[in-house]
Amino acid sequence: MLKKLSIVVITLLVVGGGIFFFVNGRGEQKSTTSEKLRVVTTNSILEDMVEQVGGKHVQVYSIVKRGTDPHEYDPTTDDIAAATEADVLFHNGLNLETGGSGWFSKLTKTANKRDDKEVFAASKHVKPMYLTESGKENETDPHAWLDLNNGIKYVNMISGVLQDKDPKHAKAYQKRTDAYVEKLAKLHKEAQSKFADIPEKQRLLVTSEGAFKYFSKAYGITPAFIWEINTEAQGTPEQMKQVLAKIDQSDVKSLFVESSVSPKSMKQVSKETKLPIYSKIYTDSLAKKGTQGDTYYDMVKWNIDKIHDGMLAK
Ligand SMILES: [Zn+2]
Repeated sequence: MLKKLSIVVITLLVVGGGIFFFVNGRGEQKSTTSEKLRVVTTNSILEDMVEQVGGKHVQVYSIVKRGTDPHEYDPTTDDIAAATEADVLFHNGLNLETGGSGWFSKLTKTANKRDDKEVFAASKHVKPMYLTESGKENETDPHAWLDLNNGIKYVNMISGVLQDKDPKHAKAYQKRTDAYVEKLAKLHKEAQSKFADIPEKQRLLVTSEGAFKYFSKAYGITPAFIWEINTEAQGTPEQMKQVLAKIDQSDVKSLFVESSVSPKSMKQVSKETKLPIYSKIYTDSLAKKGTQGDTYYDMVKWNIDKIHDGMLAK
């Protein structure tokens, strides 16, 4: 009896072990997720571009959280750990994260990552525009991605790096890139004629930070701002005076405020000019995941539509 029982127990153990091994074996096959290319990006715009190109072959960690300013930032211990473990790091370049306090240069040094080996500027092939403020004419303006044609250059740059780092999936990356670029190019073309129905004196885009140089040049409008770049003092009496003068010379109908800056100064401009703040728009960050504007494509589309409708508004 005891012998029979032990045979049953052993049989159960063997069968059970087999099942366990089978399940576990399959489980491990699934967990080849650990073979994904580990990518760190400085902000959510680059995060989305990497995900669009990389799909299931990449695992992306984005440093600066959505809705916050990437110009100035203090990396956390999680950021340092992610940067240290990363296979590739993308930053915007053009002094976005390396201007001001230069937080990203410090981070890559701490993480022991080298430029053009593990660290890449997505803006590498973009023709830069420069700040206009006197004394700053040699400093690049970082906001190149707001012109979709530059965004396409970012995407191609990112795709090339991913293909180099992960040649096994190069074909898949290129396929996704081609489809994505086509979609962006179509929106770019639409935007180029979008503002033609707005009288020129109304075609002034008033924002807090002067983030729309590239956008304005690409789509035929004129930018105005309170301060030129987030790394400088924001909303000084002199800056307020200058933006109010520009508004005064125009027929502008509405104001805009970016999602990643304090609305305080723009509210002041609104009060002084009696012009409404028509909408928030996205510059240095995507919208929170699951809300409108949470991808690069949707963010630019949102900006184009809101800016157009706000300029026409009475
Ligand atoms: Zn900015």
